[in-house]
Amino acid sequence: MNIVYLKKGKEESLKRFHPWVFSGAIHHIEGEPAEGEVVRVLTADRQFIAIGHYQIGSIAVRVLSFVDEPVDEAFWHRRLAVAYDMRRAIGVATNPLNNTYRLVHGEGDNLPGLVIDVYGRTAVVQAHSVGMHVYRQEIAHALADVMKGVIENIYYKSETTLPFKADLGQENGFILGGSADNVAMENGLNFHVDWLKGQKTGFFVDQRENRALLERYSRDRSVLNMFCYTGGFSFYAMRGGAKLVHSVDSSAKAIDLTNKNVELNFPGDPRHTAYAEDAFKYLDRMGDQYDLIILDPPAFAKHKDALRNALQGYRKLNAKAFEKIKPGGILFTFSCSQVVTKDNFRTAVFTAAAMSGRSVRILHQLTQPADHPVNIYHPEGEYLKGLVLYVE
Ligand code: SAH
Repeated sequence: MNIVYLKKGKEESLKRFHPWVFSGAIHHIEGEPAEGEVVRVLTADRQFIAIGHYQIGSIAVRVLSFVDEPVDEAFWHRRLAVAYDMRRAIGVATNPLNNTYRLVHGEGDNLPGLVIDVYGRTAVVQAHSVGMHVYRQEIAHALADVMKGVIENIYYKSETTLPFKADLGQENGFILGGSADNVAMENGLNFHVDWLKGQKTGFFVDQRENRALLERYSRDRSVLNMFCYTGGFSFYAMRGGAKLVHSVDSSAKAIDLTNKNVELNFPGDPRHTAYAEDAFKYLDRMGDQYDLIILDPPAFAKHKDALRNALQGYRKLNAKAFEKIKPGGILFTFSCSQVVTKDNFRTAVFTAAAMSGRSVRILHQLTQPADHPVNIYHPEGEYLKGLVLYVE
């Protein structure tokens, strides 16, 4: 096996179990590992420190284990079994009203580069690293075994998540089974999952608990669900007794999905209308009829250098909501950009509130649910931030 030797002293973060080796920490590499191959990482004193997937880029190794162990099918099996046990322990995998949850959340489950979401009898596997792509068959095999009797289909969906430069010719498709049944359930509500073409693995699984909280605040309110995608927040608002719900997304496909999903849960319900329109245009032209607004935009910053613009984006967006929301209104506002910290986001929203001059109270500070765990040694894994605000 190829060996990565670190520069002197560069093992410190690995000693604290941080799961990345940056290229600048490497002294030299013995052998010529292909991208995605498993390599052993040794300190300058030739002591074993980690084993992981080699990749080309600023993160050179994504650590799979701090123990010198083979990365074989038994390894994937053990890791997936631990992940599944945890989902049963927190209840998401044992709730008869919920068959949608994240089974593997990358570093949060000690599997950097791997995401697996479960939708009923189908698991959608997504590789964010070449290493996980290379091992997809073994992973799928182990997954089928760990979840025997629960899942029957495994869909592999990595066309948009792998680095282009790797040129792997990767294809989306079923590795196991191939069911056309794509309706899944979250907290008793049904929705179609477009695992063939949808964003992420087809649904934003990470908003489950925040949607449930929104439901509790929806009674008799006029709701604007901005950036609705598949309409998740909208059908919870309807179940919560909202007076009217308007869903907005710039993508016509998202609007189709939202309409379909609302129809699945509340056929013919006149309270809901969906609009395919740009967020800023809609916020500019809308009136002041809403007293519950959700802002759940896409990640405004994918990289650190985009941070300033992203914060400006959050500020502008939230300023519009503060300007128009009815007195006594409630705003659910989110950021899913990993590089935007909780403090960054709060400052952006604070500035927007101050611009409006309104009295604003923080009711809840939201984050990702327990099936998207944060590895304590990898704080970067905390990405979803939300605030629920009462606007006087
Ligand atoms: N709230 C959703 C997830 C939102 S994902 C949920 O609970 O599932 C972000 C969405 O924003 C995408 O569907 C994307 O099409 C939409 N979007 C991106 N830019 C937009 C813009 N300028 N105006 C309106 N929608 C936009």
